[in-house]
Amino acid sequence: MLSIFDTKTRKIVELVPADGKTVKMYTCGPTVYNYPHIGNLRTYVFEDLLRRTIRFFGMGVYQVMNLTDIDDKTIRGALAKNVSLNEFTDVYKQAFFQDLESLQIEKAEKYPAATDHIPEMIAMIQTLIDKGIAYKTEDGNVFFRIARFPAYGGLSHLNLKDLKEGASQRVSNDEYEKESVSDFALWKAYEPEKDGKIYWESPWGKGRPGWHIECSAMAIRYLGETLDLHMGGVDNIFPHHENEIAQSEGCTGKIFSKYWMHSEHLLVDGKKMSKSLGNFFTLRDLFAKGYKGREIRYLLLSTHYRTQLNFTFEGLEAARHSLKRIDDFILRIKQVDVMSEFSIDVDLHQFEEGFKSSLAEDLNISNALAALFDFIRKINTCCDSGKLGKSQATQILNLFNKLDTVLAIFSHDEEKAPLEIEEKAQRRLTARLEKDWKLADILRKEIDTAGYIVEDSPTSYLLKRK
Ligand code: AMP
Ligand code: ZN
Repeated sequence: MLSIFDTKTRKIVELVPADGKTVKMYTCGPTVYNYPHIGNLRTYVFEDLLRRTIRFFGMGVYQVMNLTDIDDKTIRGALAKNVSLNEFTDVYKQAFFQDLESLQIEKAEKYPAATDHIPEMIAMIQTLIDKGIAYKTEDGNVFFRIARFPAYGGLSHLNLKDLKEGASQRVSNDEYEKESVSDFALWKAYEPEKDGKIYWESPWGKGRPGWHIECSAMAIRYLGETLDLHMGGVDNIFPHHENEIAQSEGCTGKIFSKYWMHSEHLLVDGKKMSKSLGNFFTLRDLFAKGYKGREIRYLLLSTHYRTQLNFTFEGLEAARHSLKRIDDFILRIKQVDVMSEFSIDVDLHQFEEGFKSSLAEDLNISNALAALFDFIRKINTCCDSGKLGKSQATQILNLFNKLDTVLAIFSHDEEKAPLEIEEKAQRRLTARLEKDWKLADILRKEIDTAGYIVEDSPTSYLLKRK
């Protein structure tokens, strides 16, 4: 049983997909006008941890993450560079996928882009207009009529009066025609001086969709009218997710998402890391300082997702140190070649259960990692006194591989040899065990030419990059 904290009910609840098998989850994706900063990436790492944990608990996952390629910032960027919107956003879409790879974030099943789903958005807006939940203004804007959606505020636990007071301070020039200050835009009329030649045709004239409707339309398109789980950073709760609920439920009359989860922010000196404050680091900034993807992943992963995390270089050094302890341990275990069977009593099952039950409690990663380091300490003591047998070591390595399907921090591709090299090393081990020294020598040379060193122990080997 996997329990999570649901933002809407503010309760710890069991995560159960509607079909009992596959969690249909929607995760708000990047606005592709710039490189992601590590604050954005903290949210994606958290979503990845959950995705991997869901599978660890025997369920399937179908994840959709949108790419917001239509908004003020992408349009402004394209116009400033005098290129098409797609040309401008393509660079940042690619950079985003590269960052996911660097942090070992598994790919979602779908990455729909807003530019490919305008018809779905228009259809939703039309349904809302037909139902009287949205209205068009003289200028060709379409707004959501909050007065027609009494459940508004249910996710963020804000009441309509507070919302109106907040919204009245934020009304921009193009929104003066709204019936109520808290109504929000579904369709924004084309403004040549702001939008250049970037617009789409619609029943209400030229224009473009609002940000919130992008997510509602793409979530429903790929996951159906009711999702199992919707996620994002806490800044998405209001207004973005509140508006997504209003649009989607207003349109379908069904519950939009069964569960909602939000991760806390990454801070710098006590302030949210954000592009507008200029207090951000990208992965590229940290790579240039010599840090690796897995060190950054470890840092972002190791604090519970509902706790704010203050970014410091000392924190990053501590992450590096923790990983080195794990690496040294794995190396040591790989080198165990005492052929004896269980010479000590190590309860692997108990350790695995402890790790698993920590994750089951709303992803209590701190407890899960504490269990891991505790285990490492115990086994290191056994190794010190030469009590660990080969078969035990193999079992430990197998278990670590299993835990790494959730953590993705042990064996990263930056250290892992490609499959063909691993196969050569395996063949070489067999050759050695069969005392075919000639073949073993040929294979060693081939491995060497490919840039790897193979270190022998009597019954095993260790592959290292040169
Ligand atoms: P954006 O590209 O601004 O739409 O943000 C993409 C995702 O990153 C959203 O889920 C945000 O909630 C999340 N996010 C933005 N800033 C931070 C931060 N400092 N810490 C954690 N998550 C963030
Ligand atoms: Zn969204």
